[in-house]
Amino acid sequence: MSADRTVDLVPIGTLPPLGVVPKTMHAWTIRTDRHGEPLKSFREEVVDTPVLGPNEVLVLSMAAGVNYNGVWAGLGKPVSVLDAHKHPFHIGGSDCAGVVWKVGNAVKRWKVGDEVVLHCNQTCGECPSCNGYDPMGCDNQKIWGYETPYGSFAQFTLVQAQQLMPKGKDMTWEEAASYSLDLCTAYRMLVDRAKLRPGETVLVWGGAGGLGTFACQIARLVGAVPVAVVSSAEKAAMAMRFGAAGTINRKDFPGLAYTPNETPERKKQRLDAAKAFGKAFMKAADTGRGPDVVFEHPGQETFPTSVFMAARLGRIVICAATSGFDLAFDVRHLWMRQKQIIGSHFAHAEECWRANDLILKGQIKPCMTAVYAYADIARAHDDMLNNRHMGKLSCLVSAPRTGLKTLSEML
Ligand code: NAP
Repeated sequence: MSADRTVDLVPIGTLPPLGVVPKTMHAWTIRTDRHGEPLKSFREEVVDTPVLGPNEVLVLSMAAGVNYNGVWAGLGKPVSVLDAHKHPFHIGGSDCAGVVWKVGNAVKRWKVGDEVVLHCNQTCGECPSCNGYDPMGCDNQKIWGYETPYGSFAQFTLVQAQQLMPKGKDMTWEEAASYSLDLCTAYRMLVDRAKLRPGETVLVWGGAGGLGTFACQIARLVGAVPVAVVSSAEKAAMAMRFGAAGTINRKDFPGLAYTPNETPERKKQRLDAAKAFGKAFMKAADTGRGPDVVFEHPGQETFPTSVFMAARLGRIVICAATSGFDLAFDVRHLWMRQKQIIGSHFAHAEECWRANDLILKGQIKPCMTAVYAYADIARAHDDMLNNRHMGKLSCLVSAPRTGLKTLSEML
């Protein structure tokens, strides 16, 4: 569908008339020749505004949430996303709150002017997995803003209509943009994949990070007991505010992190640290055994500890490997004690709606701790790469200042 291109470009922080799509737009792009840390890889450019397909929607991005996938996209590691989608540039951003600005001619559920948040799962909508099983099994499943080129760090973002969800009316644009990716991922991991039950205990790595703060809140809602792993007293306080029953500072356990090619002495030091760490968990959870569920994402450095300390018949649910992808662990702990390792990746639309409903009803709080100006989007990713943040970070895009909640406030 061709857009209504009567306006060439509008400055950041201003809006074109509702429904009028400028020919070009401001965007933060990543290109192959700039792969590296965020301050090098992210650059502000003016690019052509994307053209809509029949089932697609062009959303004016008021604010965009920061996720680790933007860091990976900039680094070009473990793969360059530009090689995957083959577009000359990549606009990151897999979280967004904004306004429907144009709809494709097959879109029925949404109209121009609707205020929305987006989930980041794209699927074909036609295969058997999409129609009756689990859309996360779709062969064409992709993460918008990572495996697709037009994410939310631009004035307009191109999405499938099924990605749209209602935005809470009392929530600012920046807060509404901050939560969807990590909330929905944690929701699927704990509720649908690990099938967490009331009374069970959960070890949450990165308990004051994006995934972790939602994991603690979800575990509490289920009636389980989350214990958060953190790396500072400030992060411990944050995790407690978001529902942790107790915290463990991983810095109190030197030698706990696995590193490849370890010597026998180093291995003994790590196992001793893991045993002490396990005892700290039991104390914090007030239990006599290891965690029923381990919420994993740091990967290489923590995975052997996760498998070792999980309770008999426990589940280790994992969605990432920030510290390294080659995981080593002693498999005897897995089979002798009949533990399960469960892979999980984002969430399908119905799970996202269930999770978003918890936000709309106030049962889960977004854990946004900082808002960056549009000009500071690269710096926001640099803070995330260097673990200088807590909870979720958000960036203004078209919203001219923080605190705004509706389109009408800006017209
Ligand atoms: P985040 O906000 O940076 O939080 C991660 C937390 O993990 C940090 O706050 C840090 O907490 C802890 N951590 C970092 N490195 C660690 C290490 N080596 N050992 C132990 N703990 C460590 O990031 P996030 O948004 O939660 O995302 C975490 C990972 O999950 C990223 O790799 C991201 O790409 C991935 N992810 C995957 C999916 C998916 O669908 N597959 C979805 C969302 C996120 P402390 O320093 O306080 O311990």
